[in-house]
Amino acid sequence: MDAVVERAAALREYAEQTASCTRCALAAGRTQVVFGSGNPDADLMFVGEAPGFHEDQQGVPFVGQAGKLLDRLLEGIGLTRADVYVGNVIKCRPPGNRDPLPDEIAACEPHLFRQIELIEPKLVATLGNFATKLLSGRPAGITRVHGREQEVTLGSRTVLLYPLYHPAAALYTPSMLKVLEEDFSRIPDVLGRTVEPPAVADEPVRAFEAEPETVQLGLF
Ligand code: URA
Repeated sequence: MDAVVERAAALREYAEQTASCTRCALAAGRTQVVFGSGNPDADLMFVGEAPGFHEDQQGVPFVGQAGKLLDRLLEGIGLTRADVYVGNVIKCRPPGNRDPLPDEIAACEPHLFRQIELIEPKLVATLGNFATKLLSGRPAGITRVHGREQEVTLGSRTVLLYPLYHPAAALYTPSMLKVLEEDFSRIPDVLGRTVEPPAVADEPVRAFEAEPETVQLGLF
């Protein structure tokens, strides 16, 4: 089978398994699991926080106001939702859209890691604090690390992590929106640097040559 078809089938199969997940208490209050959507073969994956009301109803991430902003930001760099994959740290809506709890994040983490393993994105753009802290494995908050790519090892793969402000936060804060737009505009450049350069005869080919950003641990 073609590798792209195989990847899509594996992701679909995993989504079907996840649909009946009861790993945490959020299962009791959800309409449905919001697994993720987009291109299973995407080089660029976005990871948000958790489904809200509309996502829970429709089963698709980022379909509310924050999703509309995400669509507009994507359009600004010549992409659509069909070019990327979009998922969340938490696959079920927390009651009243409250923040995810540590035990919910821990329970849902294997789903996100499996998704990343199956999709094999080159660049993972984290939207907001929850996705950034989880996938960077560091406590530094989004205000300190946004717009600065960092190399991280997730499971057996090294990917480039690109933290961004969460679109829902930027919706109501013009200064944050401006920063988000600026950071977003760098995505094509950052993504370009993750793509393998063409092989040159007798030259060793390295997949990634950019200097990774070093993030200091400490207050955030
Ligand atoms: N906010 C998120 O983090 N994820 C969604 O799916 C929707 C809003």
